[in-house]
Amino acid sequence: MARILTGIQSSGRPHLGNILGAIQPAIELSKDPANESFFFIADLHSLTTLKDGQLRHEYVKAIAATWLAFGFDTERNVFWRQSRVQEHTELAWYLNCFTPYPMLANAHSFKDKSERLADVNAGLFTYPVLQAADILLYDANLVPVGKDQKQHLEMSKDIASAVNRQVGSEILVLPESRIDERLMVIPGIDGMKMSKSYNNYIDIFLPEKDLLKVIKKIVSDSTALEDPKKPDTDITFQLYSLIAPDEQTQEMRENYLRGGYGYGHAKKALHELILEKFREPRKIFDYYMSNEEELEKILVAGEEKARAVARKTISRMRQALGFGS
Ligand code: AMP
Repeated sequence: MARILTGIQSSGRPHLGNILGAIQPAIELSKDPANESFFFIADLHSLTTLKDGQLRHEYVKAIAATWLAFGFDTERNVFWRQSRVQEHTELAWYLNCFTPYPMLANAHSFKDKSERLADVNAGLFTYPVLQAADILLYDANLVPVGKDQKQHLEMSKDIASAVNRQVGSEILVLPESRIDERLMVIPGIDGMKMSKSYNNYIDIFLPEKDLLKVIKKIVSDSTALEDPKKPDTDITFQLYSLIAPDEQTQEMRENYLRGGYGYGHAKKALHELILEKFREPRKIFDYYMSNEEELEKILVAGEEKARAVARKTISRMRQALGFGS
């Protein structure tokens, strides 16, 4: 049995990129009876960039509601908030003391964030150590990640090896990353990678009219309505083709190539497609967002399961490090 682990930061509401690039593929993997899935909300990680507690609370709710909206089976698997299992921070401290400073200083994502953000705090710097703790705490075998996370996964392995080597036993399980090459980077409304931090994302759970407003902002070229258009370089078409069945994508391609079909038409079609395709998830999402107590119960039950696993790892670490068990 493979133990699969993945987490999403609560630094915003989940967007189409998170859903197509992480949530849906992870839920597909979780359906294999040979797998056991540990999916969590990385609310501690979100503190590196988000200081507003009320907003964080809203985002945690939205992320939890999204996993449930897309059918994650929380009974068979484990689903929790990182901050509610204190063993994450305890392990992170131990791991900090086995992490070479230059490894963190050379991390691509730290370099990128420290150039972009005004608040370059120590949490941002040690972010990969907390991530390693998230993974190693649960003896995860497989961590499905995008290409951008590959280096962080390598660090988790290096840190685990350092602990095993220096403390002298096989205390931590070395995880494997699973980079799914088929998973493409979902473009945002400006054509860059869809991201909370670029403010170019599509929130599929918005009310219909607000969703249309965002879709209308998708960047397009200035080809006149009557002229043929290039589907493959157009963002609206790319997003449409990621969601639509092949036949419908083919029809849309023909509309573009024929001419007489404007970007406004394509955007309207994308809006309708999102509403249609995500009708059920939108309903379930709204249900949980307005029934917080139910969401809370599901998370609290998950946290008990997570804690039981986490405690075993912490106990091994404590014993090996001379802190008692
Ligand atoms: P983040 O929002 O950065 O915490 O990412 C959470 C998960 O969503 C990670 O597995 C990312 O690889 C994935 N993800 C985020 N943005 C995109 C995107 N634009 N395309 C594909 N996957 C994405």
